[in-house]
Amino acid sequence: MSGILVDDDPRAGRPSDGDAVIELIDARKTYRTGDIEFEALRGIDLRVDEGEYLAIMGPSGSGKSTLMNILGCLDVLTSGSYRLGGEDVAELTETTLARVRNRRIGFVFQQFHLLPSLSALRNVELPLVYAGIGKEERRDRAEAALRRVGLGERLANRPSELSGGQQQRVAVARALVGDPTMILADEPTGNLDSQSTADVLGLLDELNDSGRTIVLITHELEVAERSGRVALVRDGMIHDDEVTA
Ligand code: ADP
Ligand code: MG
Repeated sequence: MSGILVDDDPRAGRPSDGDAVIELIDARKTYRTGDIEFEALRGIDLRVDEGEYLAIMGPSGSGKSTLMNILGCLDVLTSGSYRLGGEDVAELTETTLARVRNRRIGFVFQQFHLLPSLSALRNVELPLVYAGIGKEERRDRAEAALRRVGLGERLANRPSELSGGQQQRVAVARALVGDPTMILADEPTGNLDSQSTADVLGLLDELNDSGRTIVLITHELEVAERSGRVALVRDGMIHDDEVTA
């Protein structure tokens, strides 16, 4: 497999078993707030192969976002293991993890998470700034990404000058501009009308068709049905995981 690690990591290219991008084994996450503990993930086993499109469904509070934060290396497990591209995430340095997040994973969130003071173009350029890519290439790639999501005429607009659907398409452009191996989308259509939902899901379909692994979190069945596989999370456990297409 091409691997999810950056090319200059000394451990990249080490043999891994099969083409698993994601392998969670008995994954558990306990939140502690003062004296109160809450076990949000209660022993999840999950394997996602390269190029798969997995939808994770489940009611509010079932642990979907917690799971996505783990998958995206935004948070760490309390126990169990997470192998990303064959590498045990717990063994990676913070620097390597930051690079994996920035260069290999594209995030799309329900609340868009765009910077309000920046134009669409600058928002999309940001991951490339962090990756140390030069000004001209940054601009070209960000512009191409925005054209790809149908926003070639909106480069200079700030988020507040765009509709919700357009803002989410900017976020999709930002997620794909770094050419990530994997896209993680947490309720990406949760705040969108039906036309914008269709637009965003169509973009995710295209990204999957071009080989990206997609993990999409949703509580809507119509949205989940776009994927090839649906996993149902309830009370921090996966209760059902089946291939639908
Ligand atoms: P979902 O995305 O499925 O709605 P979450 O993963 O956001 O669910 O939350 C799962 C459970 O963990 C909920 O009961 C929530 O209150 C709790 N939780 C989430 N984040 C935290 C946190 N940072 N601290 C304490 N509890 C949390
Ligand atoms: Mg959530």
